[in-house]
Amino acid sequence: MALIVQKFGGSSVANADRIRNVARIITETREAGNSVVAILSAQGDTTDDLISKALEINPKASKREMDMLLSTGEQISCSLCAMAIEKMGYPVISLTGWQAGIHTNRAYSDARIKKIDTERIQTEIDRNNSIVIVTGFQGINKYDDVTTLGRGGSDTSAVAMAAALKADLCQIYTDVEGVYTADPRLVENAKKLDEITYDEMLELASLGAQVLHNRSVEMAKKYQVKLEVLSSFANKPGTQVKEVVKPMEKTHVVGVAKDKNVGRIALVELEDRPGIAYKVFSLLSKANINVDIILQSIGRDNTKDISFTVKRDDAEKAKEILEEHKSVIGFKRIDLSFNLAKISIVGAGMIDNPGVASQMFQALYEADINIRMISTSEIKVSVLLDESEAERAVQVIHQSFFDE
Ligand code: ASP
Ligand code: MG
Repeated sequence: MALIVQKFGGSSVANADRIRNVARIITETREAGNSVVAILSAQGDTTDDLISKALEINPKASKREMDMLLSTGEQISCSLCAMAIEKMGYPVISLTGWQAGIHTNRAYSDARIKKIDTERIQTEIDRNNSIVIVTGFQGINKYDDVTTLGRGGSDTSAVAMAAALKADLCQIYTDVEGVYTADPRLVENAKKLDEITYDEMLELASLGAQVLHNRSVEMAKKYQVKLEVLSSFANKPGTQVKEVVKPMEKTHVVGVAKDKNVGRIALVELEDRPGIAYKVFSLLSKANINVDIILQSIGRDNTKDISFTVKRDDAEKAKEILEEHKSVIGFKRIDLSFNLAKISIVGAGMIDNPGVASQMFQALYEADINIRMISTSEIKVSVLLDESEAERAVQVIHQSFFDE
């Protein structure tokens, strides 16, 4: 008998019919001879609606009270789903994060799971192979307060649960049929991938492909949890996320991703001497600001320029910090731009194929799209370009790599 953790996202449990559909998937999995622990998100836009309610009362509400509020969304979907399964005549119980033994650190609204005491869940499974439904997105901290894991955190709850229970499989049910070579809303010919490696998935998740919560993929890799992303609306196999994908099936590029969450900072006319880059980036790292693409110009007349990208929300703060230290760093001007997007191609086979980057650049050239910055790693090539051209860039790059 296998143990399967199944996670259902907000759209999969949005109304009574959909909850009945989820109850059907869960009970069919049990009928097939498995044990099931299901992790549910809040219904539809519930979490957003709860946030609006809070804003009406107190726009500066403490994170502790926000967690108290937001965690209720998941409690509703879980109890309703348990009722649906009860009605079908199966043994079932719903549990909150606290009842399910999910312990997190203190960080309200962005907590990390520290450990899961699986005893209660195990007891429920051992008794009649009960179906256990657990609220995603939440846990408790050492003060016995409810914490939440950050938006989209139910994926992480599911993977953590699968790791703690040593489950045979963790299925993430969503409203798309799996992981695609590009956003299917943007690219007509986007293809569903049968499989993808953890590393590729991590890049795609962090690059804005938005199928899985980033931390859930990191955790799946760390604990080698077998993941599958699939649709709760179509009865079809989805995309498997795992360590290595069979080399025969490996294409050089698995996907094209778009990320609009970028701001670029340009430091103009810095002194061209050792230690300048160190000063700039150590100041930013002290402020916990992550830097992504960095470009340094060739020195001329003893000056150089450095530009780099950060998350959009961090850009103003980064500028402020650098302005504050202007005299120590020594630069003439600092420029900020926001109307940019990062487009990336990802693929584990890339490193052995020198032509991949130039093929991407050719596609952009032929579409007359200008590249502002480039960065590469073993498994990805990213370019920064004008936001207004981002969608067209994804389309032409996808066409170049995936259309026969
Ligand atoms: N309900 C939470 C959110 O909307 C968590 C999740 O859906 O994963 O962010
Ligand atoms: Mg989600």
